[in-house]
Amino acid sequence: MWAGWRCSWAASAAATGWVYDPLFLTPVFGPGHPEQPRRLQAILAAMDHSGLPARLRNLAPRADVDHALRLVHTEAHIAAIRAGYGEAIDALARMGVGGALAAVDAVAGGAVRNAFVCSRPPGHHARNTGREEGFCFFNNVAIAARHAQRESGLRRVLIVDWDYHHGDGTESFFYEDPGVLYFSTHDWHAYPGTGDPARRGAGAGAGYNINVPLPCGATDTDIVTAFERYLLPAADAFRPELVLVSAGFDSRADDLLGCLGVSDEGFVRLTRMVMAIADRHCSGRLVSVLEGGYNPRGLASAVVAHVRTLTEGQAGN
Ligand SMILES: [Zn+2]
Repeated sequence: MWAGWRCSWAASAAATGWVYDPLFLTPVFGPGHPEQPRRLQAILAAMDHSGLPARLRNLAPRADVDHALRLVHTEAHIAAIRAGYGEAIDALARMGVGGALAAVDAVAGGAVRNAFVCSRPPGHHARNTGREEGFCFFNNVAIAARHAQRESGLRRVLIVDWDYHHGDGTESFFYEDPGVLYFSTHDWHAYPGTGDPARRGAGAGAGYNINVPLPCGATDTDIVTAFERYLLPAADAFRPELVLVSAGFDSRADDLLGCLGVSDEGFVRLTRMVMAIADRHCSGRLVSVLEGGYNPRGLASAVVAHVRTLTEGQAGN
């Protein structure tokens, strides 16, 4: 009886959470824009085909996001998004925040070991400008980090951002904060033009912001080497209590907006590296949130590879 209880507990704790809601299919931009609901439709079709959903724990986004929004965004920004873009887009953007919160709650509470949030649009460019920035309205990952610190007492949060673009919004929120280590690989010649490696944080946050630009055509080896050289030592010194991933797959080969050449196998290797960090320092606690990725077929293939790796529970090899 005791052994059985232990087994079922272990199986539960080893589970991977999956956050999705049909509201995530709400269109935001007009026809011809790369940020479209078909991005997620392609992921859902590929996930069904993969057989992975049976191994995942479905998590519903949290509905109550008002308090968490204000951990990062100003009243003026929150009001301007609703006034400027309307109720449907505001509800969509809030649902993305609720998805990230639900994933953090489940991982911090031990209901699952790690989780993937399959939401759109992305969030890492969102700041407090009162308007959409780079397809982003609210900064899901930044809000998740603050929520984890305030609600779950996880003081040190590592954010790993492998999107093709630099997460200027995320960097700005934590630039002087030693409680959040922000690590980003990106093409700094692309939108939004930030991501200079000389920007390493300021004040108490000096050294806690790591930008690693990659050139067009960068391969799996290039991005894995960047992680090994710059992320691993910093993460081991930082000892995160939670790992968040800004999982953008516009860094994949054949993306419509990106020019890097990362393959699905490359994302598997990156996933294993961030899982190994989480295993070493925080019992595997990791939440991955979808950011970019604008070739629907490539995005879907990369997400399946990423989520399958999250379910492995064999990090570090
Ligand atoms: Zn991007």
